[in-house]
Amino acid sequence: MLTANFKCPRAFHIWDNMTIDYLTTCGICNRPFSTYTGLSHHLGQEHKGITRKEYYDRFLKKPGEGICARCGKPTKFSDRLNRGYYVHCSQKCTATDKDVDAKRRTTKKALYGSETFNNHAKTTETKIQRYGDPNYANGDQIRKTKLERYGKQGYNNPEKRKATKLVKYGASNYVNAEKCAH
Ligand SMILES: [Zn+2]
Ligand SMILES: [Zn+2]
Repeated sequence: MLTANFKCPRAFHIWDNMTIDYLTTCGICNRPFSTYTGLSHHLGQEHKGITRKEYYDRFLKKPGEGICARCGKPTKFSDRLNRGYYVHCSQKCTATDKDVDAKRRTTKKALYGSETFNNHAKTTETKIQRYGDPNYANGDQIRKTKLERYGKQGYNNPEKRKATKLVKYGASNYVNAEKCAH
């Protein structure tokens, strides 16, 4: 377990003015990481006093996570920071949920002729009532979700960045060498 006087080997302030594009930061020393694999490795190297599960519980766990979506029993930790806790407690619960999902799709198909039917008319109506605009998109909510999910409001999908690089430079792993030269 982590104690109150736990000393992080990395100085906090070193990273204060860094502007690299990161996915998450270490909750203990604030070092930025572009992948959860990197953070996971870092925890094993630099913060040996805390297990991945303890770290996850403390810094990444969302409210209601770790509870079976089917029966409400506690679920196991996947041991992966980007995955967190399993959604179901057992294979039985996973299978039952799949059954329910399949039934829902069949019902939708019978009622609306489409498995993936979504009641768009209702959504539009609500938007007009609430915001006076049928195309209203909640920008604040999107930013908040990004903040919660990636720890950063301006987070941009690395896949998209790769695609941009591919278009611009013809290589998805292009690195601006001039910019990086010390
Ligand atoms: Zn750290
Ligand atoms: Zn269950």
